[in-house]
Amino acid sequence: MPWQNDDRYSRQVLFRPVGEAGQACIRAARVLVAGCGGLGAESASLLARAGVGFLRIVDRDVVELSNLQRQALFEESDVREGLPKAVAAARRLGRVNTDVTVEPLVADVGPGNIRDLLDGVDLVVDGFDSFESRFLLNDACVEKGIPWVYGACIGSTGLAALLVPGRTPCLRCLMPEIPEAGTSPTCETAGILGPAAHLAASMQAGRALRWLATREAPDAAEVVYADVWEGRFTRVALPYRPEESRCPCCVERRFELLSVETPQTAGLCGRDSVQVRPLVPSRPDFAAIAERLRPHGTVLANEYLVRFRTGELELTLFSDGRAIVKGTSDPARARSLVARTFGV
Ligand SMILES: [Zn+2]
Repeated sequence: MPWQNDDRYSRQVLFRPVGEAGQACIRAARVLVAGCGGLGAESASLLARAGVGFLRIVDRDVVELSNLQRQALFEESDVREGLPKAVAAARRLGRVNTDVTVEPLVADVGPGNIRDLLDGVDLVVDGFDSFESRFLLNDACVEKGIPWVYGACIGSTGLAALLVPGRTPCLRCLMPEIPEAGTSPTCETAGILGPAAHLAASMQAGRALRWLATREAPDAAEVVYADVWEGRFTRVALPYRPEESRCPCCVERRFELLSVETPQTAGLCGRDSVQVRPLVPSRPDFAAIAERLRPHGTVLANEYLVRFRTGELELTLFSDGRAIVKGTSDPARARSLVARTFGV
């Protein structure tokens, strides 16, 4: 039986600022969800349910038990199966709305792939967990003139802002200096309440739907902060005055982050983990690697990854040749463990 999609979106269409015309725009839209954790998973769910025609979801991680407290798109079975978040999200959304095309990509976003990820999208929803990634996204979006919805959450608080190149300040206007890695609190160090993540994601999705349905240009970027513990909302308007600004990104158009060379190893903030990238891209043979490792520890293998546990260490190898080592923050040790364990 064909689904009556008129009925599916009827409540949203009844909301006047959306209407039939806005719904058609939402249906035609293509959105990149960059990072699929507390913010991205919830935004992706809201956008898929709202009928955004195409969602590209990129994330580098696997669903973990500690995600389930706030990431409502995922289930215990995803943890047991060792599914990458992008894949688990696409599976779930495929069951929620067959009307929407979801393209899952298991990858780490960096200067080498960000332009390709933005290819053909109308809007980006920020689901990243680091400033480095957000500033990279800001550079790429300003370069290509693509609007994006900044979002962040920590503890009991969340915030969101729609940033439209040429019409509002960019992230670099708001924060001229990129906070150094490890200096800002993260969910892993300061904790996070589920409602704070959902609220920030809801504000992002609200901004996204409004833009997609109406293309209404904000006169100023507005950052909305909320605290779900104190029950407090604050809105700060940020007027755009390019003639007074010396922003290196949106005024001088120097996209510094796009030309940074990605290091081979990177500590994952606050997680006692290191990510190791391959020097040359490779397509590891998971079955052969799993077979070889089985006598030496606990092995989980599926079509997306192979994971090996021994003692305090856990090593996960992905199909793009990238590996994440948990249980150390020493890049040299991580590199050598990856080489020794996976032979890559
Ligand atoms: Zn700027």
